[in-house]
Amino acid sequence: MNILVINAGSSSLKYQLYNMKTEDVLAKGRVERIGMDSSILTHEVDHQPEVREVSEILDHTTAIKKVLDMLTHKKFGVLRNIQDIQAVGHRVVHGGETFSRSVLVDQNVKLEIRKLFDLAPLHNPAHMMGIAAVEANLPDVPQAVVFDTAFHQTMPPSSFMYAIPTVLYRKHKIRRYGFHGTSHDYVSKSAAEFLERPLEELKLITCHIGNGASCAAILNGKSFDTSMGMTPLEGLMMGTRSGDLDPAVVPFTINKEELTLNEVNSMLNKHSGLLAISGISSDMREIVESMNEGNEKAKLAFEMYAYRIRKYIGAYIAAMDGVDAIIFTAGVGENSDALRKEVCKGLTFFGVRLEEQRNAVRSSQPRRITTDDSVVSVLVVPTNEELLIARDTYQLVLERPADEAESP
Ligand code: AMP
Repeated sequence: MNILVINAGSSSLKYQLYNMKTEDVLAKGRVERIGMDSSILTHEVDHQPEVREVSEILDHTTAIKKVLDMLTHKKFGVLRNIQDIQAVGHRVVHGGETFSRSVLVDQNVKLEIRKLFDLAPLHNPAHMMGIAAVEANLPDVPQAVVFDTAFHQTMPPSSFMYAIPTVLYRKHKIRRYGFHGTSHDYVSKSAAEFLERPLEELKLITCHIGNGASCAAILNGKSFDTSMGMTPLEGLMMGTRSGDLDPAVVPFTINKEELTLNEVNSMLNKHSGLLAISGISSDMREIVESMNEGNEKAKLAFEMYAYRIRKYIGAYIAAMDGVDAIIFTAGVGENSDALRKEVCKGLTFFGVRLEEQRNAVRSSQPRRITTDDSVVSVLVVPTNEELLIARDTYQLVLERPADEAESP
């Protein structure tokens, strides 16, 4: 079975085509600048040069049509015809309290995702455009939705409630949801496999450290707590996001700087984090390079970033009354040995013994970076959110009742 995985944004769309027999990626690519002039489709097939096509792509339906044309292209394609796509899986950022697992798309699911637009106004409407675009191009193909929030729906109220009047939760569902769920789910399963222990018996802390960043406490295979909240702004310091801060900073800044609420919101999401403190970049590679050249602001940004991760790890060890393994993943977590070292240097009390040489190794495979006698294992586990979306979609399609399978 071939499954097309789609991550639709408001003006962009990423895709990966999986052969589920082998779990190989047959092709992948992205469409950028949808709705603007000179939209760009970039398409990649293993071991072949990237193909770039510039054209006018006014909406998501045309974008999907272009992707399908490329996938079945005589020279650059990998499929004979579009009937060779048996299912489509979509990444959806917000599933609210409605979705605690991935589901197949039907009228009711679409209605429920629409009801969640308020909670993810930048993301969910774009995902719906992606779903509609696939429907228009592949009307008979089943579609599944995989939510960033679903994995964290197992959090107990003591983890997910904010200490504010509960009427706000009842009326508007203001609570902590958590994100990067697909990644935390994927790497926790990979880590259990690597450790050769049942996931249901493990206490894990997963650190998804990329452009966006979050930690999760995973107790017996279930999310117990995570650092992101109602939106992906809470928690760790990130590339351009502030993470945790005293909410009183918001009205204070509005008054002192004569800014609007929207301007402060934009400041906290797009002009804070590593970028604000270093004054250089939101990219950890540039921060480390500049710090090594003696830049004090870059050093402070690096230390604050690592310190916040270390604090969350400490908190989650207390939350779970112990930890078996700490897992680093995503762009920074997988690639920056300097960051991992800085985080782990404050964890010796808990029995973490980093092995410098292991930490410096680069590999695309899961690996241990602590000594063999370290009480707590620290692992680097590459994440693969698209593969998990493809696997969930595959499973849902296999489980479909026979009558639905005949007439989707
Ligand atoms: P992600 O959001 O998971 O794609 O992560 C993207 C981020 O990973 C980039 O913004 C970089 O800051 C970071 N990154 C990628 N490669 C490296 C590296 N070799 N060292 C440090 N950070 C890296």
